[in-house]
Amino acid sequence: MSDLVTITRNGSIAIVSIENPPVNALGYDIRAGIFNAMEQLAADDTVAGVVLTGSGRTFSAGADIREFGKPSQEPWLPVVIQKVEDMPKPVVAALHGTVLGGGFELSLGCHARIAAPGTKVGLPEVKLGLMPGAGGTQRLPRIIGPEAALKIIVPGEPVGTEAALKMGVIDAISDDPVKAAVDRAAQMAADGAPLVKVRENDAPLAAAKADRSAFEETAAALLKKAKGLKAPAACIDAVRWSMDLPVEEALVKERETFMKLIDDDQSKAQRHIFFAEREAAKVADMPKDVKPRDVKKVGVIGAGTMGGGISMNFANVGIPVTIIETSQEALDRGFATIEKNYRISVSRGRMTEDDLKARMSMLTGSTDMNDLADADMIIEAVFEEMDIKKQIFGDLDRIAKPTAVLATNTSYLNVDEIAQMTKRPGSVLGTHFFSPANVMKLLEIVRGAETEPEVLATAIEIGRRIRKVPVVVGVCFGFVGNRMLRARSLETERLLLEGATPQQVDAAITGFGFPMGPFAMGDLAGLDIGWRIRKQMGGSADGGSADIADALCEMGRFGQKTGRGFYIYEQGSRAGTPDPEVEALIKETAAKKGITRRQISEEEIVERLIYPMISEGAKILDEGIAQRPGDIDAVWVFGYGFPLWRGGPMFYADQVGLAHIRDRLNHYAETTGNAALKPAPLLNRLADEGQGFASLARKEAKAA
Ligand code: NAD
Repeated sequence: MSDLVTITRNGSIAIVSIENPPVNALGYDIRAGIFNAMEQLAADDTVAGVVLTGSGRTFSAGADIREFGKPSQEPWLPVVIQKVEDMPKPVVAALHGTVLGGGFELSLGCHARIAAPGTKVGLPEVKLGLMPGAGGTQRLPRIIGPEAALKIIVPGEPVGTEAALKMGVIDAISDDPVKAAVDRAAQMAADGAPLVKVRENDAPLAAAKADRSAFEETAAALLKKAKGLKAPAACIDAVRWSMDLPVEEALVKERETFMKLIDDDQSKAQRHIFFAEREAAKVADMPKDVKPRDVKKVGVIGAGTMGGGISMNFANVGIPVTIIETSQEALDRGFATIEKNYRISVSRGRMTEDDLKARMSMLTGSTDMNDLADADMIIEAVFEEMDIKKQIFGDLDRIAKPTAVLATNTSYLNVDEIAQMTKRPGSVLGTHFFSPANVMKLLEIVRGAETEPEVLATAIEIGRRIRKVPVVVGVCFGFVGNRMLRARSLETERLLLEGATPQQVDAAITGFGFPMGPFAMGDLAGLDIGWRIRKQMGGSADGGSADIADALCEMGRFGQKTGRGFYIYEQGSRAGTPDPEVEALIKETAAKKGITRRQISEEEIVERLIYPMISEGAKILDEGIAQRPGDIDAVWVFGYGFPLWRGGPMFYADQVGLAHIRDRLNHYAETTGNAALKPAPLLNRLADEGQGFASLARKEAKAA
């Protein structure tokens, strides 16, 4: 018997325990260990029943996902689970911790389940582009019915103990689940009633089989949220098989589909993002003994679009915030917007009136910066103007306590220059939130030249506490996200002049998988923001011209908020319709510039918008602004709506092949006469070597 699976005895009951810390992942040794234990105990006449449990943090959190897609050894998990289910003696699972994926499927093979309070059970495979592959899609419907099973399998969210008990997923809750399971197994053995194998328990399927309507309605609603992902549809199909196929056939099909999904690019992309999300906050040169500072109170300066949203993040997790504005009216406006946003959540049933009150009570307004004297972290979110930001950081240097972390939410400005306004530049960094700041998960943490490790660690820790995805980046114009976005924006305008329409460009980009095209996005965010920045920067001196957007702004067309931008928005509508006036403006501007317009294909639009971003990403890596390609991918997936199933721009580039991207960029540089489209040196080098960006991450991992 392997020492990763142990057998002990409590009278006539054998206790089989998984001992594979930290999360009892179900690798080969464990699978073989459980299989052999069952065989041995089935044959042992002194054993009346079996308890299956796990030591440490959890019963089992499932498979080791780093092993997905690699060759694995028999016995595979489905066989082990069937072995448990076919035992001639009762097997009771004693659960605690996070019982997920294969771990939960293993428990579904047992004849009863008893869980400690606080246990979570679930099938999160869908989040990695997969579906349960060890009977979960067939056994769960045979316990709680197909519709309820869909609601667990397709969103992939774990279920708490109370809910699980109510549904019948578990049979009892006990403070000492192993003891309770021993008692239950002994009782079942004494009763001698035939053991129910879940896979043969068809009764819970009957109602849905007789009337499919509720099941299909739920399936359709879940599918609508799937946004181009294959796994949710596969999960739904599999649960349908529980009603349509003999169980043995359905189990085989489930396994086959699972294996197909593992090899699919979508799942590879989702697994890549799963790891990228966790890695992005790891800083290679962070000394091991650094501890984040305690953040009990936060200050936010500015109660505008961003300041309000940023404050909500802290209120949501119970951290009090003092919000500073220039006037009482501005404060009132800011607070009213925050309350309105919370009210929307209440009206949608996501929050109670009491929650709203509790969160609002976390927020205090003030027009006196001196009220920030006891804040542990202060985030500035005022207008994007260097002079105002410098003034504020000068003031903060006098007011803030010595251990306070001083952060700016600037989108583009030089964090080091801002830090120099203080006598403590080591305490300064950027915390770049994304709009709407209470919703978007990305938090770019901009590390300044002098930012101290402890300050950086504090920002990362707080980012996690407010449930963001913190990605550490370096100082440059626009950091990672906006710098790459700019590369894309320059091309969107050129495409218009060369012959595309805004609606064609937007359709190509939504076709690629973004939730919105660049022109619809510009109209939503407000075209005036970029226009003002371009004016500040002196227009097109650096090639950053946007003739059409600027002309629209000169006409007072700022986008949705003025009812007109690249599109027309009828009263109250958020969907724009094409405007012949805009098309005329584009034609006229092109003619003035001597550009002959032509038909532009969807393929060209996608390549000319996405490939320059990838090239800019290569420069960002070369300069060390981002530590790894996965960090850039996390930025784009969590901050800009890059389709998750494509894995972010750098992962996507590797899938397409860097040589192809290099060749296409050279082609476009030549045909359009725009040398800025030429591929970045790192992109050229990797393409020449036949490598992808992933090779950089592998090198880094080896060095660490
Ligand atoms: P905003 O205009 O909505 O809000 C700025 C607020 O700051 C205003 O309410 C203003 O009254 C207040 N303010 C100005 N000077 C102040 C001072 N001295 N003291 C206190 N309050 C002051 O702007 P926003 O969109 O919230 O942007 C704020 C910052 O966040 C900018 O640096 C911007 O670049 C950055 N940002 C914006 C977005 C976005 O999508 N809007 C996204 C990421 C980052």
